[in-house]
Amino acid sequence: MKDVQDDIKVSEIISYCFLSISLMHEDVQDDIKADSFKFKVYTTLKDRVFVFSAEKRDDCTMWAQVLMVAIMEHKNSNQSDQAELTSRPDKEGFVRFANLKEYYVTITGQMLRYYQSLDDYQEGSPVHEIDMKLASVKANESKKLRLQLWVHYGHFDLIFPSEQELQQWRLAMEIAIAEGLADDTVLTKVYENISNQYCADCGAANPHWASINLGIVVCKNCAGIHRMFDFRITRIKSLRMDTRIWTPSLIEVS
Ligand SMILES: [Zn+2]
Repeated sequence: MKDVQDDIKVSEIISYCFLSISLMHEDVQDDIKADSFKFKVYTTLKDRVFVFSAEKRDDCTMWAQVLMVAIMEHKNSNQSDQAELTSRPDKEGFVRFANLKEYYVTITGQMLRYYQSLDDYQEGSPVHEIDMKLASVKANESKKLRLQLWVHYGHFDLIFPSEQELQQWRLAMEIAIAEGLADDTVLTKVYENISNQYCADCGAANPHWASINLGIVVCKNCAGIHRMFDFRITRIKSLRMDTRIWTPSLIEVS
C-alpha cells in the first residue's frame, strides 16, 4: 500500500471505512443551531455515532431525510447484498500488505474486500472493496512470496507466508476475476428448464454450477462436495465461466 500511496495517492481514493446502510439505526437526528447545521447517524458499530455537517440548513434537513428514507427502505426490503454478507465468503483470511499491516481479506463472488480487523468483517464494514472484474493479479517478479493485485488506480502488494498460501489466494482471485467477466448466456439457456433453477442436490435456488457428466445443476456448496470425488465420477464446471465447454448439445442434456 505504501508504494501505491507514494506514487498516485491512493489514500485519496480509498476511504477509511465503508458505512453500509444496513449498519445504521433508524434515528437520524438533526442537530441544527443558528450557525451550524449537523445531523447524527447512529450505527451498530460498537455504538459509534457519525456526525455530518452541511453548509446550509436546507441541505442538512434534506440529507437527514434522504438518509432516513434509505435506512427505512433497506430495513423493509430483503436485499440480496445483505444475504451476500451473511453467507460465507469463497475465500477469507488475514493477508499481509506491503505496509506490513495485516488485513482481513474476503472474496465473495467477484468482490474482494478487506477489513481492519475480524470485528470489522463481522460488522460488515470494509476499508475498501474491489470489483475483480476490473482487476488483474500477477506474481511480483523481483520478490518471492508476493502477489500484485492491479486495479486502475494502482496496485496492492500482498505478502504470503508460503508458496502454497500464495497459490490458494491467486486461484481464488483468478476465479473472482473470471466470475466478474462471465456472462449469463449459458445460464439463461439452462434455466429455461425450471427444474434447473434449483440445486439438484440440496434444492438451493439459482445454482451456477453443473456436473457435465451427471447432467445436473448444483449450487456452489454442493459443487465443492462434487469436487472431492474423482473426476470420472463427477466433473464440475461453472455455468457462468467455462462458456466454451457448453456446446448446444450439453445444454440440452442439462
Ligand atoms: Zn446444493
